[in-house]
Amino acid sequence: MGVKIQAVKGMNDILPVADKDSVWTSADWLAFEEIAHKWLAQYGYKNIRTPMIEPTGLFVRSIGTDTDVVGKERYTFDDYGESLSLRPEGTASCLRAVVEHNLLYNSPQKLWYMGAMFRHEKPQKGRYRQFHQIGVEALGYAGADTDAEIIAMCWDLWQKLGIKDCVQLEINCLGNREERAAHRTALVGYLQQNEHILDEDSRRRMITNPLRVLDSKNPDLQAMIENAPKLSDYLKEGSLKHYNTLKNILNVLEIPFVENHRLVRGLDYYNATVFEWTTDKLGAQGTICGGGRYDGLIEELGGKATPSIGFAIGIERLLLLVKSHGVLKADNSPDIYAMYQGEDAQPHLMRAVQDLRSNGFSVLTHGADQKLGTQFKKADASGAKFALIVGENEVLSGSLTVKNLQTGEQKTVEFDNVIETINSF
Ligand code: ATP
Ligand code: MG
Repeated sequence: MGVKIQAVKGMNDILPVADKDSVWTSADWLAFEEIAHKWLAQYGYKNIRTPMIEPTGLFVRSIGTDTDVVGKERYTFDDYGESLSLRPEGTASCLRAVVEHNLLYNSPQKLWYMGAMFRHEKPQKGRYRQFHQIGVEALGYAGADTDAEIIAMCWDLWQKLGIKDCVQLEINCLGNREERAAHRTALVGYLQQNEHILDEDSRRRMITNPLRVLDSKNPDLQAMIENAPKLSDYLKEGSLKHYNTLKNILNVLEIPFVENHRLVRGLDYYNATVFEWTTDKLGAQGTICGGGRYDGLIEELGGKATPSIGFAIGIERLLLLVKSHGVLKADNSPDIYAMYQGEDAQPHLMRAVQDLRSNGFSVLTHGADQKLGTQFKKADASGAKFALIVGENEVLSGSLTVKNLQTGEQKTVEFDNVIETINSF
């Protein structure tokens, strides 16, 4: 016997049945995707699909070298002399495609994507090496109303999924380049004074990306971080106005939020509004959605300057939360379970089954000539509402038997009357 091969660590199969490794089934995923597709259409977003592999330079340039995603977690390989990477997130690829195909030529774009992302992290509940994100990008929208709209859009989805009471919205304003530069000077001065207590990561970031020191989870640094110069004290009129407009709209829409001046997000490209949706129900992996403005990124990637904002939701984390605290109706069951006995019955049954399918019914065929008792057990287990049976008697009389599996009611009818009988039960 051959040796069994296992999936790569941190990369999961999504199966039709829940097993010890997963709380969800592929039916849960499909149910979520159906809700998500309608939701995205309600907000006018159009789908974009990009390759899972991109030139490494795309991620280095957009996400930044001193970020976990590009620094430590990157899946990079040599493709006959060219360095390629598996995508760790969706925004960079989306913008690369938009610039490459000149999509912003004469109108702004609202785009959504969904798919697998790859990061070499330590696998644990809610943190995988292949995971999935669904995200939106509103490209060419400068106003705070768009910031508010995409936050409202998330709130709407949490409501649709029954988890709005389990999540919290945190927002912050990162200002513009000049404001960040002034703050940075003050922050670096402060960090230098405290250099003796910094850990290795923070010492490095103090030089490469000091704002991210504020993002450190190291408990020994929290008091120092709490007293660091705050970016909010360096924001000027334009940034403050944008931020206040956003907060005002959120208040009008009655979307609860807290301001977290330490929220800087893990990727380098953000400015102005940033936000995260977190939950305390998933332990350490508590962020289910993160987003923000990236007004300078499209220009950085060779396009024309285009103010933009987006977010990404981690689907595994969202589904963990929905399965434990929310609602998701996933139905894998066919309408009808079809069975036969005797070789002559096969074509007779198949004709009826194809006819039912073309009339919109879902039909699962048993697919083997077994005892009726065995077939009925499978029919019950399938969750089907009706059984369709063709045995020798039915072949002789040119009829079929329809049974309502919930009430036990049963009728033998002619081929042309099957649908009518099902509808009458
Ligand atoms: P974290 O701080 O948990 O590592 P992040 O800031 O790296 O998250 P983002 O890059 O903002 O995450 O990605 C958006 C969302 O994608 C996250 O909020 C999370 O829900 C999900 N996500 C990120 N990394 C993973 C992963 N390795 N496994 C599962 N979901 C993930
Ligand atoms: Mg991360």
